[in-house]
Amino acid sequence: MSTYLPWSAPSERQDKPCLADANTALTYREVAERTEAFAAQLASRGVGRGDIIAVMLPNRVELVIAMFAAWYLGAAATPINPVFTDDEAGHQLADSGAKLVVTAEPDRFAYRLPAIGVGDMATEAPETALAPVDLSEDDLALVIYTSGSTGRPKGVMLDHANLHAMSAQMLERFTLTEDDHCMLVLPLFHVNAIMVSVLTPLRAGARTTILERFHPRDFLDAIATHRPTYFSCVPTILAKLTELPAGFIPDTGSLRFAICGAAPASAELLARAEERFGLVVAEGYGLTEATCASACNPIDGVRKLGTVGPAMPGQQIRIVDPTGAEAPTGRSGEVVISGPTVMRGYLGNPEATATTIVDGWLHTGDIGTLDEDGYLSIVDRLKDMIIRGGENIYPKEIESVLYGVDGVLEAAVVGRPDPVLGEVPVARVSLYPGSTLTAEDLIAECRLRLTKIKVPVELTIIDEIPKNPVGKIDKPRLRSELSPEPE
Ligand code: ATP
Repeated sequence: MSTYLPWSAPSERQDKPCLADANTALTYREVAERTEAFAAQLASRGVGRGDIIAVMLPNRVELVIAMFAAWYLGAAATPINPVFTDDEAGHQLADSGAKLVVTAEPDRFAYRLPAIGVGDMATEAPETALAPVDLSEDDLALVIYTSGSTGRPKGVMLDHANLHAMSAQMLERFTLTEDDHCMLVLPLFHVNAIMVSVLTPLRAGARTTILERFHPRDFLDAIATHRPTYFSCVPTILAKLTELPAGFIPDTGSLRFAICGAAPASAELLARAEERFGLVVAEGYGLTEATCASACNPIDGVRKLGTVGPAMPGQQIRIVDPTGAEAPTGRSGEVVISGPTVMRGYLGNPEATATTIVDGWLHTGDIGTLDEDGYLSIVDRLKDMIIRGGENIYPKEIESVLYGVDGVLEAAVVGRPDPVLGEVPVARVSLYPGSTLTAEDLIAECRLRLTKIKVPVELTIIDEIPKNPVGKIDKPRLRSELSPEPE
């Protein structure tokens, strides 16, 4: 079952490179040895099957080892954003019921629960060999916190059956082989990096180089040095890369493809990145509740710009209307998903689970359409939809017009409360360096291309659109900046 686990890797793979970061480079055998060593340390602290440990570390090899060590014992890991405040981390620690935390700052949480400092992580094999537990498909593997639009983040429970299915689907869709090499640049507290950049390459016998953070020039330099074959990114990363001066041309010739997902990407941006770096950029779509990707354009095969591709092999996607009836081809409705990657549920929150998974179908809260070939397009998120005087407006449609203007780097449209109309669209735009576009130019383009009610009532050009920790445009923050303070 667990072919993404380094200690289950076939013997001929053991001396191949597996995981590296700025400080360490480990083979499959070394990853397995370190995992066993750290598992023994966890076991001596009382961690066992069914427990959850928290891992609050920056992107580095030790984070992955800690996660593997939990699985070695049949426990689960909940990764925490390392820059979280005490309050944010405290919520996740309390809600998950984590037994201990592996962290770079062990003193910080000492009053809450036992901590292991990253420098204190055992790396030597235990005196008595420790055998891995025989994992079953329904052993919990990960609890990933995702916020959604309202309230505190909820813990998405993913079991080994979910990870097993997702890694198999990705292996097939991304055509990975043991010759592949992933450059990991997204944060490891999110399911995207864990699935696309760790478990799937490990399942393929490939390797991963972990970068601690994204910086456009350093990223391209690292590609020229390490010669990876692919990376997974969010649209902001592509925007930052394409923004680099044309004269800055490190050798990116080793790259076969990039996967771009997690947020809407404009067709212009994908095309620009493909042309500049000479690689295939495949847009995909997914959510934590479905263990990462639910649709993705193929690397070899028909890619349709503007779509997020067909369902991943083994998943079913339907478009339904508010009554739950399936919408005809081409008609928009809520995207619902079924298959073996649908989460087990929200930890400790059966009510939220019951409203999200109905008759085996995961309700995504996203609005989309399917074409005659089964390619999915994401129209928008239900929660981002603006209702102006009773008319539904999809911000993405307005953003697409803005992205179509030469010189626009990023665009975000959100609803601002309006005493008469309920909500009105307001836009924030950032520009490529050197662009002389003005707000008036952009409003004029919207007037030309959109019906009146969709034209933003206010458009401001700003230096940088705010992002959340995963690198997505932070619409909740933009909305809160626009809303009047509560009474
Ligand atoms: P948070 O970021 O607060 O944890 P989230 O709802 O963004 O919450 P994720 O599971 O990270 O949680 O993201 C899933 C959502 O991202 C999807 O429901 C969808 O709205 C959006 N998304 C993912 N890929 C795409 C894409 N290619 N195009 C448009 N939207 C996308």
